[in-house]
Amino acid sequence: MPLARIPKVAEVLYPGGVFRIPEKEKKTVYLTFDDGPIPEATPIVLDILKQHNVKATFFCVGENVQKNPQLFNRITNEGHSFGNHTFNHMDGWKNSVNEYADNTKLCAGVVRSNLFRPPYGRITLKQFRKLKKEYKMVFWDVLSMDYDKEYSAEDCLLLIKKYTRPGSIIVFHDSLKTKDKIAELLAKSIDFLKAEGYDLEAIPMA
Ligand SMILES: [Zn+2]
Repeated sequence: MPLARIPKVAEVLYPGGVFRIPEKEKKTVYLTFDDGPIPEATPIVLDILKQHNVKATFFCVGENVQKNPQLFNRITNEGHSFGNHTFNHMDGWKNSVNEYADNTKLCAGVVRSNLFRPPYGRITLKQFRKLKKEYKMVFWDVLSMDYDKEYSAEDCLLLIKKYTRPGSIIVFHDSLKTKDKIAELLAKSIDFLKAEGYDLEAIPMA
């Protein structure tokens, strides 16, 4: 079973990678959404964020932005931050440094951001070092497992309740795999996190 909390060794393997953004005297969490934008899921997420007055961060796949520019505009117009998630959701372990860098560059043509998140969390050290020169490399602290069909919205919520701590970066997906559970999961997660006294913010792009 993949781990809902990212193992500590990841921070050693990827020095300078962002896993969590702890701040003194402040309880902030960062909701992030990977793999969109797509019409089946992204509007659901955006509507809920708007209803709850929450800002978040979207790690977008370049080809999805190219297909759905109006959805990408909605993300930016509604005050969310966004990052590069490669053009084709590329698996770093299956591609060379140059192929990976080229695919990221292609995405940068439509997603102008200094934030990057590697698809599947799979990136070689060489790829990491190359991209880190240009990007803030954003991993995560808590994985909701929302993409896994074995996990109901309620199961994912339990993971969030168990593992979230101040500064956590939490991963959700706006994808076909999550479209049927994301509304319930997101609304309940926001309610829980607010009740726990967290501020929910977008990861800054500057
Ligand atoms: Zn992804």
